[in-house]
Amino acid sequence: MEQNKDINQFDIPLAKRTYLNNSNSILLKKLLIFSPFLFFFFSIATLRLIRNIELGALSNLNFKAERSYDHRILGHLPYKEIPKEKLVLIEPNIEVHIDMRDSLLKMREEAKNDGIYLVFLSGYRSMNLQNEIFYSLKSIRNQEASERARVSAPPGYSEHSTGFAIDIGDATQRETDFETEFENTRAFRWLIKNAAKFHFKLSFNKNNKYIDYEPWHWRYEGSIEALKVFETSNREL
Ligand SMILES: [Zn+2]
Repeated sequence: MEQNKDINQFDIPLAKRTYLNNSNSILLKKLLIFSPFLFFFFSIATLRLIRNIELGALSNLNFKAERSYDHRILGHLPYKEIPKEKLVLIEPNIEVHIDMRDSLLKMREEAKNDGIYLVFLSGYRSMNLQNEIFYSLKSIRNQEASERARVSAPPGYSEHSTGFAIDIGDATQRETDFETEFENTRAFRWLIKNAAKFHFKLSFNKNNKYIDYEPWHWRYEGSIEALKVFETSNREL
């Protein structure tokens, strides 16, 4: 009896019930229910993001590796020899790729109309001829291969073997043939101004770090085949 009285003396608070029935609470409940799914979803998304970043970095690395490993020899890129059936003779001793013949002849004609006389010095060169040029001149001039490569491509590495390259001189100043001084001729100035119209481009300009400047050496980029041939070279520049 005494004990009961004691208990009654305590003021026991009524349990306060909070009903989770307002809108915030419903949201909370839903979140609790879906939290494992949300966690799963975000984990997957994060993993995928990380993987993409890693893949991106990897392909970037591969791209860089490809760029630095482009099969150059002494600064020259390799070129395949043009199939014989694609070669045409445009004048005695000058053969070129059939794709560039019309453009090349048109360019010479237009120059003539402007009073400029272009002369074609060298077009297609076979690998055998390139071999002779590279090795015989090397021994004559007593140059190391690397020195020689600054002025002539090793066989298999010449733009001339593609049929898309042409060496051009000024008919009125033949002493400048294959010489840097060719850049001071009217023919060269005319080419700098007009060659692009005929899809010709200077291959080895003053910025080329491997090969000496060759103002006389032009290449044709007016066909898909030609563009493919020079794709690596253009990517580098
Ligand atoms: Zn050349």
